[in-house]
Amino acid sequence: MKLIRTALLVLVLLVAAWFGVRYVWEILPIYIYSEPQAEATNASQIPVLMYHKISPDLKSGGLGMRVTPARFNLQMQYLAKNGYHTVPLTELTDFIKGNKTLPSKSIIITFDDGYLDNYKYAFPILKKYGFTAAVFVVTDYIGKTNEFDAAKKLQMVNQLLGWNEIDQMSDYGITIGAHTLKHVSLTDITLPEARYEIENCKLVLEEHLKTPIEAFAYPYGHYNSQLKEIVRKSGYTIAVTTDQGLVTPESDPYAIKRVRITGNYDLRKFINEL
Ligand SMILES: [Zn+2]
Repeated sequence: MKLIRTALLVLVLLVAAWFGVRYVWEILPIYIYSEPQAEATNASQIPVLMYHKISPDLKSGGLGMRVTPARFNLQMQYLAKNGYHTVPLTELTDFIKGNKTLPSKSIIITFDDGYLDNYKYAFPILKKYGFTAAVFVVTDYIGKTNEFDAAKKLQMVNQLLGWNEIDQMSDYGITIGAHTLKHVSLTDITLPEARYEIENCKLVLEEHLKTPIEAFAYPYGHYNSQLKEIVRKSGYTIAVTTDQGLVTPESDPYAIKRVRITGNYDLRKFINEL
């Protein structure tokens, strides 16, 4: 009996030690990596980070689309400590046209689909570091769940942002962007149907927020030259894709590349992507 108890105790201690070592390993880069503070140079390329869910809840889905709040906080802490500053997504338009220079260490943070956890977990962390971001919402599903993906078994059921949360985030300075009415793959429907989705999502947001909506995100990253043209003609100034890469002054403002951050990225991997 005593032997079993001792064995159990050793096991518990070993598990605790394992988690302790893992935790230290995870946070170590915050103390080891120290980049020089932002120089007085201009940025030649800018990372646009792409997130979806920020949640500790295993039931909300896998780590491909979900970053835990602890890791997200560590990433934001790293950026703040190393002199990065967030730029509103819409300022990229002038950077690309060459009308505006942005200082080195400029970075843009984006969230797709408008999950409620963005408000619950990411928003307080962004505020803590004085960061801004852009959130792309699906207007027919505001205050509802992500039926558009859950029904197709692409995702677990997740609650989405309601107007109340969207208002608060917008008031703080978060850019609210359009992600269509129904989160449809725009390359799989007719062009008039796509135009309806693109135009009306913008109208719904502008009607409610009383501010021009300039940013658009293609659902599933599906786009082509005709869709880019519809987005431009609808009055958006910038549109983001899921194509991987950094933004330069030569980038196409209607096909902005991003850097996908998944929940599997530890801080070292995150730093490598910047
Ligand atoms: Zn989406």
